[in-house]
Amino acid sequence: QQDFYENTKARIQKIQSHLANSPRGTRLKDKVCIITGVGSLKGIGRASALLFAHEGASALFLIDFDSTNLQELKETIEKRYPDVKTTILQGDAADETLISGVCKRALKEEGRLDVFFANAGIASRQPLESTTSEDFMNVMRINSLSCFLAVKFASAAMKQINESRGKNTSGGSIILTASVAGLRSGAGTIDYSASKAAVNSIAKTSAYQLQKTNIRVNSICPGLIETGMTVDTFNYARQRGADAKIGQLNPMGRFGVAEEIAQAALFLASDDSSYVNGQNVAVDGGLSASHPVVP
Ligand code: NAD
Repeated sequence: QQDFYENTKARIQKIQSHLANSPRGTRLKDKVCIITGVGSLKGIGRASALLFAHEGASALFLIDFDSTNLQELKETIEKRYPDVKTTILQGDAADETLISGVCKRALKEEGRLDVFFANAGIASRQPLESTTSEDFMNVMRINSLSCFLAVKFASAAMKQINESRGKNTSGGSIILTASVAGLRSGAGTIDYSASKAAVNSIAKTSAYQLQKTNIRVNSICPGLIETGMTVDTFNYARQRGADAKIGQLNPMGRFGVAEEIAQAALFLASDDSSYVNGQNVAVDGGLSASHPVVP
């Protein structure tokens, strides 16, 4: 068990020192990006903001409803990457006024919007019998409505730019964070799983509806990732001595880390994925593929 944690820790350190020591990339050169859910120190949104800056994004609009770590994130990016213009916004990713406003602001201030990474989300741990209608609607609002709003307003802004620039643009990329829980049973969480299945459907349906616009929409389905969101899950399992077991259920024998999801977001955000559209991309160490008949 000890080794198991050492491995996960070593992996996080390796990825972080890779970022700190490797030369700047150009995969998002000059791109203007919006990311929601960036406020958690171990979270997917923060790891993505740092990676997008490392890869040459020209401007980042970063949103979270918890302002605790936003200023620190802005300062970290500005210190490491002084050429990246970073704007932080405290607010709810499911607030229509905020989301339509930030898309318009990107156009007005930066003249373009290339990437919207709708990543904000909340977990839920209630079994069916104790989930109320209010719980269900709250999770759907934050996890699913936020993605609908991102697609609606980001695509409108991207279309405006594409029309004014003509055909030969790289269009835009909208990325939604779903979950493996939206691909199959999420075990204990009916509202969470339903909300993430909706996100996967939003990615597919909007990719179809946005055809011929050169705007791509995909979702990422993370497996179990050690972030702010899963701290309680892991602590609970840890207390029962079951934590290593959770990791070992995965074909990779470990949890994932936020930086590994950020790398998938970077691929989908960049022109490297120019023909990937309408997909629900599992980044889960093989978890969703593994239902062995004989374990
Ligand atoms: P996290 O809790 O570390 O980070 C999520 C961030 O989103 C937090 O800073 C939180 O304040 C913010 N947030 C939540 N609701 C918001 C809202 N309405 N408006 C603005 N900000 C909001 O968790 P994470 O694991 O980095 O989660 C990122 C995404 O990944 C979520 O959509 C989550 O459902 C998804 N996900 C996580 C896992 C995992 O194992 N960690 C697995 C599958 C999917």
